[in-house]
Amino acid sequence: MGVRRGAITLIVNDLLERHLLVEGAIAETVRGRKPTFLYIDSRGRGIVAVDIRASGTFLMLADLSGKPLSGVVRLKTVGEPCGLVAALAPRIRSLLADHPEIEVCEGVGVVVPGMVEHTTMRVLHAPTLEWRDVDLREPLAVATGLPVQIENSGRACVLAQAWTVRDGVADAKTDIVFVSVSDGVGVGVMVQGELLRGSHNIAGEFGHLPLSLDGPPCSCGANGCWEAYVSNRALLARYFGRSGGPGAAAPTDDRAFTVEDLVTRARANDARAVAAIETTGHYLGMGLASVIKALDPSRVYIGGEITLAWDLVEGRLRAAMAQRALTPAAAETEIRLVAASEYPRLRGAAALIAAPAFASPNAWFGGSVANRKQEPALI
Ligand SMILES: [Zn+2]
Repeated sequence: MGVRRGAITLIVNDLLERHLLVEGAIAETVRGRKPTFLYIDSRGRGIVAVDIRASGTFLMLADLSGKPLSGVVRLKTVGEPCGLVAALAPRIRSLLADHPEIEVCEGVGVVVPGMVEHTTMRVLHAPTLEWRDVDLREPLAVATGLPVQIENSGRACVLAQAWTVRDGVADAKTDIVFVSVSDGVGVGVMVQGELLRGSHNIAGEFGHLPLSLDGPPCSCGANGCWEAYVSNRALLARYFGRSGGPGAAAPTDDRAFTVEDLVTRARANDARAVAAIETTGHYLGMGLASVIKALDPSRVYIGGEITLAWDLVEGRLRAAMAQRALTPAAAETEIRLVAASEYPRLRGAAALIAAPAFASPNAWFGGSVANRKQEPALI
């Protein structure tokens, strides 16, 4: 953090007084004062994490480090924002009522598949939901009585990767990218340890960068976007021989045939399923080569159901990257998979509430201290 020992003591004392940190065991050292381990005090405190997608809305209770404290509740995504809030609020209340051991709910973190204005948290444009300029925060805060934070799903995923998962990315010099493949494609970018937002909150929208100008129609209204080639919808459309069109952009039914079903068929030697997944791997690699040329990150994380069939994806993906990434080193950029069972998007939603309580506001919220003023609410 580049601050002096004395300043650390002041910060730690403040966090201890606010019961955000707790002192643990005293470490053994050969010489000098023995250090005391500090832990984030997550006892009795929880966060409601919400992942809104066109194909379904998911919620769970998590602790401050993003670990699940409940199972995942799924509900149908009501396309109309007020209707969605009306459906979501009672589910949040009953989730908290089912867990009386959580005495304090720190807030509701919501990830959405779209661009979010980060000071007001208005959803500027969520193509797969057909939302433009939607305020979900205020009505959800009123309906639940809890602080609400909203963020783009890709951005929240990359934040969680640095904040809760760490694996070597907490270092401030790190450039990492998270590609979340779902109904659409969300990309979160962290440059030099900070989330990249851009001047108009659309930085990192690689999902809507064209691979071809006359490709399949995309949910954003354009043609040939990366998302229109690699999203779960695009993969299923490829398998079923649909070439896109208005049907490809419509929200999918949550009981319909899923990517998991497709992977099961591929495992049972369905040649068309294997071919659809491999072709998706090719396009995934083509788009990743653009991401690498734009940002040259040290590591790319990929999350989503497609990771279940990585053995079928990887060969074509690496071949496409080798063809397009300009240098052998860039083509070999490290890729780490984040399994669907780790709930990266829900973990991202939890990080929206946890990170600002601890991290420097500059690092996470671009200096917006307003987000830190909200006190934890008692249930
Ligand atoms: Zn698009």
